[in-house]
Amino acid sequence: MYRTNTCGELGLANAGENVTLAGWVQKVRNLGAMTFIDLRDRYGITQLVVDEHAEAELKEAADGLGREFVIQVKGRVIERASKNPKMVTGDIEVVLSELKVLSKADTPPFTIEETSDGGDDLRMKYRYLDLRRPPLQRAMMLRHRVAQAARRFLDGEGFMEIETPFLIGSTPEGARDFVVPSRMNAGQFYALPQSPQTFKQLLMVAGYDKYFQIVRCFRDEDLRADRQPEFTQIDCEMSFVEQEDVLATFEGMMRFMFRETLGVEFGAEPFRRMSWVEAMTKYGNDKPDLRFGMEIHELTGLAKGHGFSVFDDAEYIGAIVATGCGNYTRKQIDELTEYVKRPQIGAKGLVWVRLEEDGSIKSSVDKFYAPEVLRAWATELEAVAGDIIFVVSGTRTQSLRVLSELRLEMGERLGLRDRAKFAPLWVVDFPLLEWDDETKRYYAMHHPFTSPKPEDIPLLGSDPGKVRANAYDFVVNGVEVGGGSIRIFDSSLQAQMFDLLGFTPEKAQEQFGFLMNAFRFGAPPHGGIAFGFDRLCSLFGGADSIRDYIAFPKNNSGRDVMIDAPSTIDPEQLKELCLEIKL
Ligand code: ASP
Repeated sequence: MYRTNTCGELGLANAGENVTLAGWVQKVRNLGAMTFIDLRDRYGITQLVVDEHAEAELKEAADGLGREFVIQVKGRVIERASKNPKMVTGDIEVVLSELKVLSKADTPPFTIEETSDGGDDLRMKYRYLDLRRPPLQRAMMLRHRVAQAARRFLDGEGFMEIETPFLIGSTPEGARDFVVPSRMNAGQFYALPQSPQTFKQLLMVAGYDKYFQIVRCFRDEDLRADRQPEFTQIDCEMSFVEQEDVLATFEGMMRFMFRETLGVEFGAEPFRRMSWVEAMTKYGNDKPDLRFGMEIHELTGLAKGHGFSVFDDAEYIGAIVATGCGNYTRKQIDELTEYVKRPQIGAKGLVWVRLEEDGSIKSSVDKFYAPEVLRAWATELEAVAGDIIFVVSGTRTQSLRVLSELRLEMGERLGLRDRAKFAPLWVVDFPLLEWDDETKRYYAMHHPFTSPKPEDIPLLGSDPGKVRANAYDFVVNGVEVGGGSIRIFDSSLQAQMFDLLGFTPEKAQEQFGFLMNAFRFGAPPHGGIAFGFDRLCSLFGGADSIRDYIAFPKNNSGRDVMIDAPSTIDPEQLKELCLEIKL
């Protein structure tokens, strides 16, 4: 037996027991007569002692240990003289009688402790060493618990876990596909799924009315902190359901998962719902962070026509109120102005109005607006003495984007985005289609299989941009955690949708014929949702990046620096695939 116990479980109750432990050496302290060793495994750390009664051989073995050696020890558990209340095993230590080195270790490239001295790149290169560190072990355990909670809930509700293939055909779903050349079908390519969307719909046609899968998805997109080229979804689909049924089921799942993994209860009130239009108008984006208010208000009517050409020429003028920030200094305001002018946000400037405690008003546009006019803005915005108003103008889309970013930044500065607080929200009634000015065509806002709201179907011919979809997103704290829709299950409506999206009937048949044909053989009404599993884990863990919740992630250039992928392949392999590289 390699071990009788783990390094995280021994306590006073075990005093007097003879135990065998195995693990990694975190630290060796040689105090002359005695040597202390911290032994680590994923359960914790146990202090080992080689005391003054130990045989010379044992003492020598202990002093010869290096960091990260793997050892097996036998000894007796005793109560410690000086206890460490910060350690679970801090009441005891194990006095060694035997020590065996199972595996030596080179000096690790960085410290493997709670905090490490290793830089990002180095830790990515030696990810298996980083994964030994307690914070990453906690992240991996959280991920495991989240996955098991999802499985328990879904299994309990009668969902079946069914796998779908990774080698599929290329189907445009908004992102670029990763492709895999086929040797047996020279010149042809598989694509890795961006999601199992069409397969889960085919499973509905096949009669498996409640499906789920915790599944890898692949999208060849530019990377950001919360994106990885391969990521995991909790993908779900149900038959004989309407939007309300899907929302009720998965609201139940979210409550269950928050409870099981964090002990968070949301109370009896249903989760808040907001239409896409309301989210865009009041928060400037479709995934509002509702941990705080600071809603956006339109000022176009009140602010135009006073000779300030920037506003007079604007399509839209909007504002937010930062409560209690009326004492902001020029420096603080300049900082915020620089913030919104950053290229990613793209504001031209930031107008401010300060409501001083003494009742006076100061603004960056005093020249154009008399105090009464500014006071009318304040009334409209319900701002009071001690507040500051920030005003942004431009096109409607652009201004709302700027205000949305400014709102989040102010929320951050004012400490309103508390990580221990969760504000769940369903965003509903998304538009079905999105017009793209560059390519002069409509794109599906969610995906081409999303059903329009039945009452909006007549608009498909006359005003497609106005059609709303039976689509929904689940948002928590400004993060889109999940999204889905009720699907089209009628092949002629699906054909009409493809037509609107600019597919010729031949092209639609070529790419999605398998689905439309399947619908001709008895398709049940169906709908579903997919949750971003990595994001859910980082949300539960209180982190911004999903990277720490993935055992072996890619870096920001999409590389795995540990195994050095992607890489070139053998000329022989290329030949077999009938491929030639031209750079
Ligand atoms: N397949 C969709 C996605 O990946 C989710 C869904 O509609 O169920 O966003």
